[in-house]
Amino acid sequence: MPFTANRQFKEQPRLLAKAKGMHYTTPDGKQVLDGTAGLWCVNAGHGRQEIVDAISRQAAELDYAPSFQLGHSDSFTAATAVARMMPAGMDRIFFTNSGSESVDTALKIALAYHRARGEGQRTRLIGRERGYHGVGFGGISVGGISTNRKTFSGALLPAVDHLPHTHDVSRNAHSRGQPVHGENFADDLERIIALHDASTIAAVIVEPLAGSTGVLVPPKGYLEKLRAITEKHGILLIFDEVITAFGRLGAATASEYFGITPDIMALAKGISNASVPAGAVAVRRNVHDSILAASENGIEFFHGYTYSAHPLATAAIMATLDIYERDQLFQRARNLSPAFEDAAHQLADARHVIDVRNLGLVAGIELAPRPDAPGARAAEVFRKCFDQGVMVRYTGDIIAVSPPLIIEEAQISEIFKKIGDVLKTVE
Ligand code: PMP
Repeated sequence: MPFTANRQFKEQPRLLAKAKGMHYTTPDGKQVLDGTAGLWCVNAGHGRQEIVDAISRQAAELDYAPSFQLGHSDSFTAATAVARMMPAGMDRIFFTNSGSESVDTALKIALAYHRARGEGQRTRLIGRERGYHGVGFGGISVGGISTNRKTFSGALLPAVDHLPHTHDVSRNAHSRGQPVHGENFADDLERIIALHDASTIAAVIVEPLAGSTGVLVPPKGYLEKLRAITEKHGILLIFDEVITAFGRLGAATASEYFGITPDIMALAKGISNASVPAGAVAVRRNVHDSILAASENGIEFFHGYTYSAHPLATAAIMATLDIYERDQLFQRARNLSPAFEDAAHQLADARHVIDVRNLGLVAGIELAPRPDAPGARAAEVFRKCFDQGVMVRYTGDIIAVSPPLIIEEAQISEIFKKIGDVLKTVE
């Protein structure tokens, strides 16, 4: 149970034994409505038979093929299936096993791209405060969560800078969809570029919508500005879409939803419906082709994992993407999002609530922190909701809701009603 404080083991850990559709079952047989799609990843709901069948067929047929120098044809078929869901032109795919690996792979591709084009001095990476990009050294270096960084602060990547985060409750409280204020936060990128000089900067990495640090929805115009500034200076833009891709916002990707195409995209979670650990990096054709062309000059992208395009992962990915398409789950998420928004904002006046924000099928409910114990209120909401049959997530004093895309309207109401009822009992 990583990312679980050791003191939490003083009480009996909450365990899960089974899962089907929208529900988990605990070892003692209690049903819990999944309001978080596991960890923002089980987008098609739990225990999908088509995925189970695809994985077991594959395990019997080809359990593993070495990924170095050898391969198997499903890795190409699965890559094509992923590419079809990406924005036009982002059709080159590299498989990983997790979001953290996708992020570190994406950062390395950015450095390889510049080196391939004779601009090897472009090594600086720009992340953002309150960004979460997994737990590799690259990911925590560009990430902006101090608790994840401080133990390792002497060993982080050296040439990294951070944009400010875009969260501003004082001006944007209770925004529905994208907040109105905050496009100007992107101007800091020009300041950082002026400080270091564009010729030293390889890439900017952001989550288009930051999930893990409390559902920070990008202000209107902000991502457009980041795209324009990076393009102007020859800096690559990386979107970490580990949470947002595969339907969370009611489109295949946040890039598609916002109409902004980055150069590189990190993917994981929903790519396999979390049935098998899997991730991928998608890149624009020109990024891929530049690196390929440098092969003539002896520059190669030597990088990969024993389990890149593992046969069980490619089988799970293909079965998952088939379900998304056949059941039109991204469209379903889009259709449900007005009802989801209304249900979330019913909590605007609930006790302790200082902000409700949402986009697609994700919402954040921010509580006023207890002065003597920041985070305690949201943790109490999580525990009480779970014990009363609804799973939500908390981070600091923010409660996050991000259900599977198969959720019914009545279940949406149930989740937010439960949070409201529980809040009445929180001191
Ligand atoms: N990037 C983002 C945006 C994430 O939300 C996460 C996981 N929550 C990761 C990267 C890391 O993914 P993993 O835990 O699969 O390594």
